[in-house]
Amino acid sequence: MTTPADDGIAHALRNAGLDPDAPPALLLVSACLLGRPVRYDGRDKYTPLLLQRLAPWCRFTALCPEVGAGLGTPRPPIALYETSAGVRLQGCDDRQRDVTVAVRDQVQRVTNVHGALLKARSPSCGLGTAVLHQADGSHSLTDGAFSSALRAQHPLLPIADEVSLQQPARLQNFVLAVWRYRQGID
Ligand code: SF4
Repeated sequence: MTTPADDGIAHALRNAGLDPDAPPALLLVSACLLGRPVRYDGRDKYTPLLLQRLAPWCRFTALCPEVGAGLGTPRPPIALYETSAGVRLQGCDDRQRDVTVAVRDQVQRVTNVHGALLKARSPSCGLGTAVLHQADGSHSLTDGAFSSALRAQHPLLPIADEVSLQQPARLQNFVLAVWRYRQGID
């Protein structure tokens, strides 16, 4: 499969010994990126241009780990906090509301996918971009509660966020990794 805007992906797949005319791989996608109004504020983070570029190579399956954890939409915001019990996902207004386990457990819903596209900066879905609030009031960046569980459960699964894939070379490498994962090459 070759389209005018395929970012050289067909060529890269062929060079890797993969058939670009094979059916698309299955990509887990943060539901808000697919346009589902599942954010805490009831809005979405639809990213149509990136999805269009991925669509020749991947079909999409949506998951929002916060909605899956039963948090509802809209919902009070949550954030990552460093605590004496480690990194916890807790309510910004009510630190007693700890949803770490419920959100991490959503990884059990992830089956038979060949890669994941997750929302940057989210305390659940972020990949090294989620703000971690330290006890002394400072901040650092880390994985979200769901994405860290996904990495632990599926260490070889190609995972990226929508910001990194704006770069054509990274997009191409990501699609290649997803297809190689499906072939069992990696
Ligand atoms: S938890 Fe993930 S999928 Fe759900 S709204 Fe936040 S970033 Fe999007």
